[in-house]
Amino acid sequence: MVDFHARHGGRAGGFPLVQSALWIYIAAEGRYPVFRFFEGLVDPYIPYEEADQPPTKLFPFLREYARPFRRVFWLTGIASVVIAAVEVWLIFYLGRLVDTLSANRVSEFWVRNGTELILVAIFILTFRPLLHIFQVALLNNAILPNFGTLVRWRAHRHVLRQSVGWFEDDFAGRIANRIMQTPPAAGEVVFQLFDAITFAIAYLIGAAFLLAEADVRLMVPMLMWLLPYLILLRWVVRKIGSASEVASNARSAVTGRVVDSYTNIHAVKMFAHHNQELGYAKEAIEEARRTFQIEMRYYTIMDIALMLLNGFLIVGVTGWAIKLWIDGSASVGVVAAASTLALRLNAMSGWVMWAFTNFFRQLGVVAEGMKTIAQPVTLLDGNDAKPLVLSHGVVEIRDVSHHYGRDTGGLDHINLTMKAGEKVGLVGQSGAGKSTLVKLLLRFYDVEQGDILIDDQSIAGVTQDSLRRAIGMVQQDSSLLHRSVRENILYGNPTATDPEVIAAAKKAEAHDFILGLEDSEGNKGYDARVGERGVKLSGGQRQRITLARVMLKDAPILLLDEATSALDSEAEAIIQKTLYGMMEGKTVIAIAHRLSTIAQMDRIIVMERGRVIEDGTHDGLLALGGQYAKFWARQSGGFLGQL
Ligand code: ATP
Repeated sequence: MVDFHARHGGRAGGFPLVQSALWIYIAAEGRYPVFRFFEGLVDPYIPYEEADQPPTKLFPFLREYARPFRRVFWLTGIASVVIAAVEVWLIFYLGRLVDTLSANRVSEFWVRNGTELILVAIFILTFRPLLHIFQVALLNNAILPNFGTLVRWRAHRHVLRQSVGWFEDDFAGRIANRIMQTPPAAGEVVFQLFDAITFAIAYLIGAAFLLAEADVRLMVPMLMWLLPYLILLRWVVRKIGSASEVASNARSAVTGRVVDSYTNIHAVKMFAHHNQELGYAKEAIEEARRTFQIEMRYYTIMDIALMLLNGFLIVGVTGWAIKLWIDGSASVGVVAAASTLALRLNAMSGWVMWAFTNFFRQLGVVAEGMKTIAQPVTLLDGNDAKPLVLSHGVVEIRDVSHHYGRDTGGLDHINLTMKAGEKVGLVGQSGAGKSTLVKLLLRFYDVEQGDILIDDQSIAGVTQDSLRRAIGMVQQDSSLLHRSVRENILYGNPTATDPEVIAAAKKAEAHDFILGLEDSEGNKGYDARVGERGVKLSGGQRQRITLARVMLKDAPILLLDEATSALDSEAEAIIQKTLYGMMEGKTVIAIAHRLSTIAQMDRIIVMERGRVIEDGTHDGLLALGGQYAKFWARQSGGFLGQL
């Protein structure tokens, strides 16, 4: 990116010596009280009302985030305007000085102007740097770190409230990317607005005003430059604004594809699809390059056009001033001030255009981020939602249909009642709808039709947290968080004591192998970190830790989705015993392909294409000679194969 700020020395033309010295002094103090003061002006974690439906338009969206910064924004804006006024005044003071120099004799000059010059020097050495420090500290220390943090914090909070279904519809990488790129972009928008844009507008108004003061005709070349400059600015902003949004989308697509390959690395390697994956990623990378090229073309065109235009500004203003001097209507000082001003505008014009385009470019990034961050939360606790009150653990599924927004698939008119403490086995071919039933019970999705009740309370009417607290779940593909083993088990009950954690791990047959764990950072046993760069666990070991976690949770309703599928038969036999112990007094729904694990259940439900086709005890269903009997015969104690 072309950094005009660096190239043209920004608006102040570099830090004055005193200003730098002051900064060095403050930093060398080591205790940074000044920094802490500015950094503490706004609390990015300030409580706020979480909206289920955030503003969908860009400016209301930003205004919402900007609310806690209002006071600081005003101060920064005012400081920018005052700085611009001082800078313009300095140029015209220079003009006056030239006139004074030429009007006085050397011997008289100091006597007449000494005091004024000393006052101006003091002003430049003290007030001007202080003003800059105030504005820079507001921007760099009070606004930028806090604004980005506030946006990131609120965006993550909002996204985390989204339902499981919402996450299943997008790439985790793309969501994370938007959460990461939106805050700095929003910060940049604010930075450009209060640093460059406010300053530039104030500077321009000040310059026009002072030029008019010197000689109103001097405004003519400036206005003749300003008009095409504004047209160019509008063109650049439009073109770059949309081009940058396209480029930003293309970059997000790259992240999505790359992360998709990494998260599915097993499949990639197993099917030896290395080249195919590279090709898939390259398509997106190439699209990102192409869109970025187009964006950069506009920057180059802008640069060339500016160069030409600024030539007219310098020649026009200085030439006009010289002409006025020849005519006798302008002093040497006016010529000096007008030409200095033209050179300053020339230096600033690129920076300002860059600031404007960056402003709109980052607005484009924020707009893209909003597609994720500003989506309404649809799966909500009702206004009058109360915590679930569990008395017995009766689960009732009333005429539930759920097709994931399609016409078929999922569940079709399911009616089931599970009595308190009943142990129910759920059997059916792959895709029959078993997991869907379990997900609906947890309210990961809202049912499309019908109702699910627990102890006569509709799960749609109770708080989601209380519902999920009442249900313990062990899944087929038990995933663990990238944290220590202890933290993973404590996830089931954060208030549990260490002996309780160990007791749960022992029951889940996990204690012994946990003691032998060590991660790459040397943490051992329960402190060993699981996952990335940490200890590698087998599927069975992971499942045992998940079991320990659920045991610690000790919820009154238990959902087991292929809970022991990753265990060898010896471990399974041991854990099965523990599981039976754990089921004591609880309502249990267990999905199993290995029928031997559910044969002892009170009741077995057989599903097919989203419907319940058989319902009874193991013996009863065998006697019936239906689908279950067929499964059982085929399995002879083994797996329910692909039927
Ligand atoms: P398995 O034994 O293989 O786990 P299952 O009996 O648990 O299968 P479900 O996962 O409930 O079956 O799937 C039932 C149907 O719903 C399938 O046709 C599946 O394609 C569909 N389905 C499941 N999850 C989703 C989803 N998130 N979005 C759309 N359709 C889905």
